[in-house]
Amino acid sequence: MDILNLTAVSLGEKIKAKEVSVKEATKACLGQIEKQDKTLNSFITVEPEKALEQAEKVQQKIDAGELTGPLAGVPVAVKDNMLVKGGLTTCASHILDHFHPAFSSTAVEKLQAAGAVILGKTNMDEFAMGSTTETSYFGPTRNPWNTEHVPGGSSGGSCAAVASGEAIYALGSDTGGSIRQPSSFCGVTGIKPTYGTVSRYGLVAYGSSLDQIGPIAKDVRDCATVLETIAGYDPKDSTSVKRDDYGFTKALTGSAKGLRIGIPEEYFGEGLDPEVKKSILDAAEALKAQGAEVSYFHLPLVEYAIPAYYIIACAEASSNLERFDGVKYGYRTKEYEGLHNMYKKTRSEGFGAEVKRRIILGSFVLSSGYYDAYYLKALRVKALIKKAFDEAFEKYDVILAPASPTTAPKLGESLSDPIQMYLGDIYTISVNLCGLPGITVPCGMDSKGLPIGVQFIGNVFREDHILQAGYAYEQTRTMEICPLCR
Ligand code: GLN
Repeated sequence: MDILNLTAVSLGEKIKAKEVSVKEATKACLGQIEKQDKTLNSFITVEPEKALEQAEKVQQKIDAGELTGPLAGVPVAVKDNMLVKGGLTTCASHILDHFHPAFSSTAVEKLQAAGAVILGKTNMDEFAMGSTTETSYFGPTRNPWNTEHVPGGSSGGSCAAVASGEAIYALGSDTGGSIRQPSSFCGVTGIKPTYGTVSRYGLVAYGSSLDQIGPIAKDVRDCATVLETIAGYDPKDSTSVKRDDYGFTKALTGSAKGLRIGIPEEYFGEGLDPEVKKSILDAAEALKAQGAEVSYFHLPLVEYAIPAYYIIACAEASSNLERFDGVKYGYRTKEYEGLHNMYKKTRSEGFGAEVKRRIILGSFVLSSGYYDAYYLKALRVKALIKKAFDEAFEKYDVILAPASPTTAPKLGESLSDPIQMYLGDIYTISVNLCGLPGITVPCGMDSKGLPIGVQFIGNVFREDHILQAGYAYEQTRTMEICPLCR
């Protein structure tokens, strides 16, 4: 049996039925990591012994009937900005490259309680700042479909790991698209939940008002199942929300009948690759054939989303990253004269170029004299964008959009021009600014053999709508299998 091609839910079923042992499943992933990761570099840390030890413990609990959930025994990879006690958490940064957290993030604890076997920590853009996983201190991750191309970012390691079978599913984080965009580039499924649904406790903060943890997996059912496991109110996160219902898998009806789907005209103009456009519109047609009501509408202010996002995200980042000062966490410069010189040298040596660029931009927009002109204005724009989405959701259950204007670019192409890279976030960042849920589902391949993903966006707390749409759409096609898993 080919374990690597199984979804998390089907592997969980086979483990329960004793057709596969937890150790076999874990070994299969570790073997694939051994084989592929010298090239892919999806992982920053892999801990085979620990994983096998966990596998044994989980197996005992399954055998004793103490673990009965759908994910018991299924191996998972965790993005390296989530704390996992007992190992390293680096955020792909030199400044944290020896950092051992004293506790685990809530999302990870919930997975562990459900019997997940953690394989290791995945590569990412440094502090989740980027769209290609090239700003990592540990070198770039490569796209499993074509290793000359990037996997997207910032959760590129998690998405590459799932696409290549190095992990059965993974956790990512999404501040402006970092789950949905690399999912699109790697041909996997990823959901960014409504802000406040998954606890941010133990997630290293980038833009606190935007960050959300979410699952990355092979299909929509896996994503719904993992989300059901990690979601929940957490008193340790003051932005956590108490929701009435966490039964996300209930939404997987298999039908799109009656779903009102809106397509924003503004998302299909200049800058969108024609092959991507065709695939996305084909997905809309497929849903129409399934009984969804599909129509176009105008979504104003789209062009202001990127500047507003980069001002708000950088402002929050500059404040959040103040804590890395050589005293409290991680790296400290070797030689220095006095406290200020220590701060300066530690941060100069510890942070990479993209992180520094954002700290400088963020400090600038928050400084007196510029605060009103930039930061406050960005907050006003955000409020107007939210209003535009509120109006759209009066008419529609789901907004259908691309996840990215192009398929995965080649390695090296984006680094020289950060503005160009920022523009690639056009379809994902509004979702974070407005706290909405969004899911990317594979919808085809371009002529270069690179995956394309379609994004479904829902109103706050309406994951059910996007899961229903995503699942119904998924039933209309056969998924391509990544060459490394064949
Ligand atoms: N590309 C966006 C950024 O660099 C989004 C990153 C993310 O979601 N973490 O900020």
